[in-house]
Amino acid sequence: MLPSTGPDVAAACAAARGAQPVWADGPVKGRVAVLQRVRDLMHRDASAILDALQHESGKNFEDVQNDYLGTLAALSYWTAHAPRFLADRKVRSSSPIAIGRSTFVAYDPVGVVGVIGPWNAPLLLTFGDAIPALLAGNAVIMKPSEHTPLSNALLPPLIEEAGAPSGVLQALCGGPTTGAELVDDVDAVMFTGSVATGRSVARRAAERLVPCTVELGGKDAMIVLADADLDRAAGGAAFYGLANGGQVCMSVERIYVDAVVHDEFVQRLVAKVAGLRVGSGQPAGMAEISPFVAPTQLDIVRAHLQDAIDRGACVEVGGDVVELGGRTALQPTVLTRVDHSMTCMREETFGPVLPVMAVAGPQEAVRLANDSPYGLTASVWTGDLERGAALARQIDAGVVMVNDATVVFTAHDAPFGGTKASGLGRRHGGADGIRKFCHAKTIQIARWTPKGEPLWFPYTKRRTRLIGRIGGAFYGGLAARSNRRRPPRGRTLRPRTPQISLDKYSQAHTTTKAAAR
Ligand code: NAD
Repeated sequence: MLPSTGPDVAAACAAARGAQPVWADGPVKGRVAVLQRVRDLMHRDASAILDALQHESGKNFEDVQNDYLGTLAALSYWTAHAPRFLADRKVRSSSPIAIGRSTFVAYDPVGVVGVIGPWNAPLLLTFGDAIPALLAGNAVIMKPSEHTPLSNALLPPLIEEAGAPSGVLQALCGGPTTGAELVDDVDAVMFTGSVATGRSVARRAAERLVPCTVELGGKDAMIVLADADLDRAAGGAAFYGLANGGQVCMSVERIYVDAVVHDEFVQRLVAKVAGLRVGSGQPAGMAEISPFVAPTQLDIVRAHLQDAIDRGACVEVGGDVVELGGRTALQPTVLTRVDHSMTCMREETFGPVLPVMAVAGPQEAVRLANDSPYGLTASVWTGDLERGAALARQIDAGVVMVNDATVVFTAHDAPFGGTKASGLGRRHGGADGIRKFCHAKTIQIARWTPKGEPLWFPYTKRRTRLIGRIGGAFYGGLAARSNRRRPPRGRTLRPRTPQISLDKYSQAHTTTKAAAR
């Protein structure tokens, strides 16, 4: 496929701007019906979509099926909830000045949204993010990764077949230049990819003052406590760390195990990893470990491995590169005797490598988990769920799971995204995940309309004093009291806001002015 050039991007944006008002016109239910038909059409064309995913990525069947099913799940969730999330929201104002006025928030589409995606889960992380933007009434231009341009290109014809106007959803192909040109032309950006690119996209969006979400890399820590179910923890480490060939942002990238159970954990992990089969484009049930989707990834992973070995790490299993007829993979690898001077513990490896480090206990594990520029996801594995939840609160990451990892991505009601270098903004998160593709417009209607209002001109000393007294009483007393939490039974809460008297202030102010005269 030829990369889209500057004029192609401009033409796509013009077509999107032409189609968007037609698409946005009418109730959300109309757009829901179209996207539900898209879901049916995807089901009809499942084998073509799965073939495209396998062809462009080289991955084995289970890994592309996850991408496909995740996208169907996103269609189901957003179509089920969009009408409620996008309905006008009534605001009950606590302001005494708003009395007699009704206030509500309407959610208007921003216009044209650019969705720029990575190569590791091409459909879910590109078209998957287009779904809420489309339902909100926007036109969407997708720019999938130059390494995986095929699967997303199947979607624009499907949405047209389902009844959307032509141009509402488009897919461009091309790399960094096309992506940058798209960012320069759209009204909002949803980006998933590397930290370096995310920074440049966020900078450009900030210059243009268009909203943007950037979902970036991670160095997901897994903490295994001494009381954990070691067999489940080892199985979880193997699956979440190695599925999709280890090319998952929210996975297991580094493992901290209580020294008391370290050897037993490693033994179980090695036993689970040793039998895994490497393959490329394999049908169901034939191979667990997929190859690298982007050819450049092999060099990064090999450099991390070599650095660890040079600094004294031990390869417990794996470590060999496997050529698979045009694609390259790495045997799933478990490293021990690692420390925080090694790149495999600090930078995103994004390959089938599991470095395991022994720690003195939970607090050291949390300290090391937080010793990272990233903060996407983490997991704590323990038999004590309360302790797990308490440790989860101490970890600086956007998502922390106890006795599991990754699956929270399927909970569209919960916000997903990172702290620190792992990104800005969130995807999913129920209503927030669709309203971020909208301008929230507050509309206030004055229903009670006397000829004049106490705050209007002309000012008089008497009225100003009266307003000062009422305002002081309200904001210093009544409002503070009404904003105060109801104390739990048997306990009283001390008022947080000290009482202030605007009346006193205005008297003092008048006296000072009089003295000055
Ligand atoms: P990348 O940053 O190289 O590319 C991502 C996309 O951005 C591609 O479509 C690319 O063509 C485009 N692009 C490149 N330069 C651009 C520019 N200047 N302006 C606009 N667009 C530009 O990332 P990648 O290698 O494709 O993806 C792997 C990375 O994605 C990993 O770091 C991984 O952790 C991250 N990722 C994050 C999440 C998440 O949800 N946080 C999910 C999946 C992947």
